[in-house]
Amino acid sequence: MDKYIIVSPYSTTVIDKFRERQFVILVNDFDNINEILECVNRNNFLVSIQVNLNSSLSSIDFNEKWDNVPLRIVVSDLGDYLTFHKKIDLIRKLNILFYFPINKIDNFLNIQILSSLGINCGFIISDGQLLDWGKLSELLYYYMYSKSKHSIIEPFDYIIQNNNKNDIFNNFVDYNNVYFNDPDYYIHIDSEQNISLSFENSKRNIFLDIGIDNIDSAKETKQYKNIIEDRHKHFIINHPCSYCPGWRICLGKFSYCLRSSNGCIEFFTELFNSKYILNNIL
Ligand code: SF4
Repeated sequence: MDKYIIVSPYSTTVIDKFRERQFVILVNDFDNINEILECVNRNNFLVSIQVNLNSSLSSIDFNEKWDNVPLRIVVSDLGDYLTFHKKIDLIRKLNILFYFPINKIDNFLNIQILSSLGINCGFIISDGQLLDWGKLSELLYYYMYSKSKHSIIEPFDYIIQNNNKNDIFNNFVDYNNVYFNDPDYYIHIDSEQNISLSFENSKRNIFLDIGIDNIDSAKETKQYKNIIEDRHKHFIINHPCSYCPGWRICLGKFSYCLRSSNGCIEFFTELFNSKYILNNIL
């Protein structure tokens, strides 16, 4: 079977169990960044270290020794602009993508600021969050149509890059890939060795199996097949997702929002159309 990328907290027991595997390591601070790089790359490959912080970007004490470490840093917000500004030169030398939760309205602007400054960034949508689709559309328009130079904003960039131009009508893009949550590519193991398909499933105790030895067989379980089949459940009932033009990008992720608004349909239809417009221009 294909070897999936393993998403795990920092654990030498898990890492040293494997050879020639790709890893995403999850941490909550910067204490062991270079040690993790060394440990993973000894016998395996480091895809990224994701640092989940509950603090502002401006409060991070960036280190030039992280220059060869692929980092994803989840921050609460930008923080103090002047403090951040003093750190821009160093940030640009590092391989970092910052994620901002967009349950804070200011983060829409923070994402635009970072992107305009040439710093890679993206947004995170909390589980069950009701979205401000108008704000998200403004960000999309900035990303797609702004003439000023700017760096990538995820997951927009992933969606554009992974559009299969040769098969536009049978193709779908699971942008959860940028969050290490795409079940076609990633498998998660937690500190108790519970195996799951995503951060959300892990939080909800939806596990495929348990134990490091079962990582490579976890995707042969009935639970895995059920989760994958859920992607298509909207098509066997009369559900708005089954005839939504944006399904190929959204995959029904926001069906819980439909009770309060149809904003998701408008947004994803716009995004779907935009990426083809963009592809035609490129
Ligand atoms: S945009 Fe809304 S209606 Fe369309 S697939 Fe997503 S959740 Fe379903």
